[in-house]
Amino acid sequence: MRPGRTSDETIVARATAGGQAAIALIRLSGPLSKPIVVRALGISADLLEPRRPHLGTFHDVRDEALDQVLVTWFPEPHSYTGEEVVEISCHGSPFICRSIVAACLARGARTAEPGEFTRRAFLRGKLDLVQAEAVRDLVASQTEYQASLARQQLRGRLGRELRPIRENLIDILAQLETRLEFVEEDVDPESREKLVGGIEQVDEGLQRLSRRYATARAIREGAMVVLAGRPNAGKSSVFNALVNDERAIVTEIPGTTRDALREWLDVGGLAVCLVDTAGIGRGGDLLVEEGMKRSKRHIEEADLVLFVVDSVAGFGTEDELLLETISTKPFVVAMNKTDLVSAPAVPAGVRERARDVLEISAKTGVNLEKLADVVQRSVLGAEGFEKEPALITNLRQLGCIEEARGSLAAGRAALQEGLSEEFICYDLRRALEALGELTGETTTEDILGRIFSTFCIGK
Ligand code: GDP
Repeated sequence: MRPGRTSDETIVARATAGGQAAIALIRLSGPLSKPIVVRALGISADLLEPRRPHLGTFHDVRDEALDQVLVTWFPEPHSYTGEEVVEISCHGSPFICRSIVAACLARGARTAEPGEFTRRAFLRGKLDLVQAEAVRDLVASQTEYQASLARQQLRGRLGRELRPIRENLIDILAQLETRLEFVEEDVDPESREKLVGGIEQVDEGLQRLSRRYATARAIREGAMVVLAGRPNAGKSSVFNALVNDERAIVTEIPGTTRDALREWLDVGGLAVCLVDTAGIGRGGDLLVEEGMKRSKRHIEEADLVLFVVDSVAGFGTEDELLLETISTKPFVVAMNKTDLVSAPAVPAGVRERARDVLEISAKTGVNLEKLADVVQRSVLGAEGFEKEPALITNLRQLGCIEEARGSLAAGRAALQEGLSEEFICYDLRRALEALGELTGETTTEDILGRIFSTFCIGK
């Protein structure tokens, strides 16, 4: 299935977005890329130099001039896909783009499927599967941190970190398999201890890879920040003030519940979905309890809770009770309405558990900037994202790691129970397969189809 698989089909697609633009880019990949373009330009093939733009007139199959274009030839294997690639920059008229693509089709290319360029790059060993996913994430990124996370993945860091872990696992497996073939007696206690230690080390390595997954998820999918607090504390006012302060993000990132007021914001480069559960049933006579029940559901999904307290009313037992219900979540206390009174004392126990306690005013905007800052720091972690980047960035990757860890645990148990090496080898091989699936060394058409169908055409 990989690597080095070549395709004899030549594919073509517009790489830039549809609609009118100053310039558009059309990309060809496959053996006919160069011949098609050479014919359309009506030039001799040796006029095209590797990676050097060539200015010419692109003709359709009836030899009608379509547009003045710049074409760049990337000979294999030094191209994005690893195949023969030609990029055509033309004027960004939808009509011209369609005509150029049609001329390529008429000369023997076929339309590319979504993600097919990247899929070919993967099949040719230019990228591993995690890097291919990073390409998709980079294209979809809307905030600084999303782009930065995708860039890191694209550099292949996960693959590099995974390699020694896999090698350790292969070593252990090789030892066991050798024993299986050549040694009659059972594993002695000392070797058993050593093997168990080895497996544990591999497992620790894998655990390290997934440690910052929650941060990566919050960056990729956006961090869910839920406003909580007593009625009238000022949650909606804080919501509105923050929404007006921060840049709202145009596109929604799907996957969160919809029965509350919510807005996507760019908080210092981080996509944040701010949720105001107080928005539920506004104007109606909804019981506080019902409101709390719903808030609870949102809070369960939250990456961070913004607990708003009415400074005029003070920090009361009701606030403490409410905080009890969110005790498992990281939270920030925002003492609101400090334009009216100075903030009352916050119980020491609460102060200790809170990520931060801030004195704000939704009305005058005092300290709202700090609040955004605290939100960002709480989600990304105190160490900062750059210092300790996340390595596992999506659920598929996490699933592979967890599967591998599950098999390792089974292998270790089998070893400790004194089962035959055959059983242990079976589990360790399964762990190895799961790791192979992670980077795509072992994969199925089905998995690839699922991943690449989420790409856009032309990528
Ligand atoms: P919620 O029920 O928690 O969503 O609270 P609201 O945002 O609806 O606010 C309740 C009341 O407090 C409203 O009359 C707001 O105008 C007022 N309020 C909210 N924040 C502040 C603030 O920072 N200063 C002052 N003076 N009033 C505020």
